[in-house]
Amino acid sequence: MAIKNIEALKISGKKVLMRVDFNVPIKDGVITDDTRIRAALPSINYVLKNGGKAILISHLGRIKSEDDKKTKSLKPVAVKLSEHLGKEVKFVPFTRGAEVEKAVSELKDGELMMIENTRFEDYADGQEVKKESKCDEELGKYWASLGDVFINDAFGTAHRKHASNVGISQHIESAAGFLLDKEIKFIGGVVDNPQKPLIAILGGAKVSDKIGVIESLIDKADKIIIGGGMMFTFLKAMGKNIGKSLLEEDKLDLAKSLMDKAKSKGVELILPVDTIAAKEFKNDTEFRTVSCDEMANDEMGLDIGEASIKLFTEKLAGAKTVVWNGPMGVFEMENYAQGTIGVCKAIASLDAITIIGGGDSAAAAEQLGFADKFSHISTGGGASLEYLEGKVLPGIAALDK
Ligand code: ADP
Ligand code: MG
Repeated sequence: MAIKNIEALKISGKKVLMRVDFNVPIKDGVITDDTRIRAALPSINYVLKNGGKAILISHLGRIKSEDDKKTKSLKPVAVKLSEHLGKEVKFVPFTRGAEVEKAVSELKDGELMMIENTRFEDYADGQEVKKESKCDEELGKYWASLGDVFINDAFGTAHRKHASNVGISQHIESAAGFLLDKEIKFIGGVVDNPQKPLIAILGGAKVSDKIGVIESLIDKADKIIIGGGMMFTFLKAMGKNIGKSLLEEDKLDLAKSLMDKAKSKGVELILPVDTIAAKEFKNDTEFRTVSCDEMANDEMGLDIGEASIKLFTEKLAGAKTVVWNGPMGVFEMENYAQGTIGVCKAIASLDAITIIGGGDSAAAAEQLGFADKFSHISTGGGASLEYLEGKVLPGIAALDK
């Protein structure tokens, strides 16, 4: 796919409509984590420095009632953004209409404004109308009419066909912002044209969340390493006793067929050889390292063991691309974080393109102090997974003209 990027646009003197992802957590009117606001700064600064007039749009949460509108205004985000930029951010508390148009017409080069939460368009006159979320034709066209060019920098909603991404792209010249561009380069690179050998490390809670990713990666990867809660469904499918470990009974056949498929494609599928097992799902309890062949009926595996870390580290050697999705164990509890730390260390030491594609995996890398050791940490959650599955993301496809 040939996607135009922000640097290919003429910005100076133009009204630049920018779809950003300001879907930040807000508690009692206070933003508790402004990562997403900071992440949008490079694209915003680029437009302002190049003499564009920036019109920012974003969604925030879901709007299913009038009450939702009271707690999900983007006003606090405009205030926070203004602090980061050291510059006034004109906030218009509407999603369309005369006030919006007036503010746009008054914008000078290098200035910026923001309109209200795009999802306010999902609820009107006492009912859910989903104009934003169902990509209402007229709404997309209206927003497009506010700008000369459009920059989409919201990867988190790229897997959705909404008026504020796809709808607008259909009407004016569009390009990817820096954030979206990076996701396309890295995640898109894994899917379309990875540097080989490509090794995938998959973990996390459930097989069922990752079926699409595993299936897609079996066609592309040279090796697939499996850890986390999902490893036990595979181990059980191999006939091993997994005690009280996390099991998806209805995915046993699938696990078997995935293992067969990997074999027939010549993809090495690597499972842990030992686990950290406890009798209860908590940190402060007795635990032991045990071989995956010798688990007792009353214990559950909560992390991979040291022999598995060693095995995974050896298998990772020589990789040119590594994509990691899903922690190796219950990393939120100190006693079961070693597996995830071990894998982070192994990845960090590689001379390879290294990518994290998952919300909890990213949080783990952050919490354990490895975030800066990766080439790319995807910001998407659902969008990252769907992109890794090889699906076409509507928000990105709409930029391809
Ligand atoms: P991501 O968000 O990166 O895609 P997931 O949401 O699939 O990852 O999984 C993350 C969760 O998996 C974490 O909360 C972690 O505690 C849990 N997990 C990892 N290993 C195990 C295990 N052995 N048993 C139970 N839960 C596990
Ligand atoms: Mg998760």
